[in-house]
Amino acid sequence: MYTTHEVLNQSPLLADYNAFSTDTALAEGLRHYDIRPEGIDRLNRVGARAGSAQVIEWGFQANTFTPVLKTHDRFGYRIDEVEYHPAWHSLISEAIGYGMAAQPPVGSGDLDSDLPTHLERAAMLYMWSRAEAGVGCPISMTYAGVRALRLEPELAAVWEPLLAGKSYDPELRYAMDKPGILSGMALTEKQGGSDLRANTTRAEPAGDGGWLLTGHKWFCSAPMCDVFLMLAYTEKGLTCFLLPRVLPDGSRNAFFIQRLKDKLGNKSNASSEIEVDHAYAWMVGEEGRGVKTVVEMIASCRMDALISSAGLMREAVAQAIWHTIHRNAFGKTLIDQPLMRNVLADISLEAEGATALFLRLAHATDKEGDDSSAGQFRRLAVAAGKFQVTKRATYAISEALECLGGNGYVEESVMPRLYREAPVNSVWEGSGSVNALDILRAMVKEPAAFDVYFDEVAQTTGADQALDDAVIALKKELVSFSGEDDAQWHARDLAVRLATILEASLLLRHAPEAVSSAFCRSRLGQEGRDLLSGQVFGTLPRDVDAMAIIERSAPV
Ligand SMILES: Cc1cc2nc3c(=O)[nH]c(=O)nc-3n(C[C@H](O)[C@H](O)[C@H](O)COP(=O)(O)OP(=O)(O)OC[C@H]3O[C@@H](n4cnc5c(N)ncnc54)[C@H](O)[C@@H]3O)c2cc1C
Repeated sequence: MYTTHEVLNQSPLLADYNAFSTDTALAEGLRHYDIRPEGIDRLNRVGARAGSAQVIEWGFQANTFTPVLKTHDRFGYRIDEVEYHPAWHSLISEAIGYGMAAQPPVGSGDLDSDLPTHLERAAMLYMWSRAEAGVGCPISMTYAGVRALRLEPELAAVWEPLLAGKSYDPELRYAMDKPGILSGMALTEKQGGSDLRANTTRAEPAGDGGWLLTGHKWFCSAPMCDVFLMLAYTEKGLTCFLLPRVLPDGSRNAFFIQRLKDKLGNKSNASSEIEVDHAYAWMVGEEGRGVKTVVEMIASCRMDALISSAGLMREAVAQAIWHTIHRNAFGKTLIDQPLMRNVLADISLEAEGATALFLRLAHATDKEGDDSSAGQFRRLAVAAGKFQVTKRATYAISEALECLGGNGYVEESVMPRLYREAPVNSVWEGSGSVNALDILRAMVKEPAAFDVYFDEVAQTTGADQALDDAVIALKKELVSFSGEDDAQWHARDLAVRLATILEASLLLRHAPEAVSSAFCRSRLGQEGRDLLSGQVFGTLPRDVDAMAIIERSAPV
């Protein structure tokens, strides 16, 4: 077709595959938990869609034609609306239709089969994040916001059915008149995000039981949401409120979008700066206990950040394997080159560990209503896991990107989008160090969580010497801190150890020996001593079964 040359040695497009059935770690991992047949059916459907050429194309469109802020209409009236490409609406609408934004009740024993369990939902979000991660933000906030809302049963009775609704209606109108709605959260202010007590937004009684909020929020993602969980100070202290964008009479609440952030990644999702000026809201939870009210909401969002990073990593690994199967260099396909195999196997191990971890944590979320130890386990393991998976994803994706050579550095390959998206999961919902410090908080406030954790990893005692040694070393470390400063200094190290040990233990129970032994040898003990501190990928011991590991991550 060209007069100058023939196009050779390029890999074909990876599209129209099933992101569920081809993901061996996911499909096999789920078998270790009680997953319902209707859940598997739904995952198959979502997997087929997430891998479809259409949804992949929507992902590109939503990130190319990014959201535009419309502050005013043509007559000069403020409208404070964000215009999105139709692809964004299609992505979010379909995700909501599968129940990805719906929060199941605590204790999912008698769950309506129409609603996914936390585990099923986690697997769906993971697959959807592979196709397009930006829509995960409002989906996650809607799912998580219900956790805070349930502390105010009267409000929850009214709003929860709408938040769990399977219909998406992008029009900005009074939320109660819509079949399904989205919820955002506006906590972070200019002067502080990790330290929410630095908030300056004030709330005063409206005189009818409601409140009027005045102040600003420095980060407010998905500002087109119908309602927002927002923190503001009353006389009794920092308090959580539910603020609707549109009031019952159809008029707009005093919620003003100042501008949209120009971000590194997460391009399809609008993140804004907002101001509220006597905006009407309802109190949620106890007055003056706002941080306590939003704790569970933030924990849910942290879990979703972990899931999203696992999905980004899985997509990057699949793209890398796909490319190297089809590309030749120096007379052999890339995948047949020993050093390339080393890299592919190593990043596949990272994705396997993350997948096993998020499945276990989502299962714990399903169980926490019936079993208090599941909640304790989740609290500790999500903090460590969020730290580990969101950090390791950025490194793993950069290596996967390099497996495609120059093609991986070009937007059309999707790899730059995955690479730019990855760090946000570490920044938001409690940045890396804040999560690591949360582990120390659990040591003081919920020491039983460590007992539950050690009971969990004790299931594999004797299965791997490096893991046994790592558990002993971790126990010693936990009692070795000379004081608060010393503990804080080591908090990241603690997070990595807790997460890596848990991943290793899960893989020993749930993955083939080729995977678990390579993971333990490369990430624990003598051979893995450097990797624990974040060394490069592609440094596995010589005798691991690389192809057995890689084949599980191949998208075919
Ligand atoms: C794309 C994007 C979208 C966002 N959307 C929203 C949203 O919708 N709603 C919302 O409320 N927020 C949102 N955020 C804000 C996000 O949650 C905050 O940026 C995050 O919590 C960190 O707060 P900060 O930016 O104020 O940083 P800071 O709190 O100033 O922290 C800066 C750094 O210091 C570290 N640090 C803090 N305390 C300690 C300590 N004691 N010891 C050691 N290190 C410490 C942190 O880990 C971080 O690395 C968004 C952020 C981004 C990037």
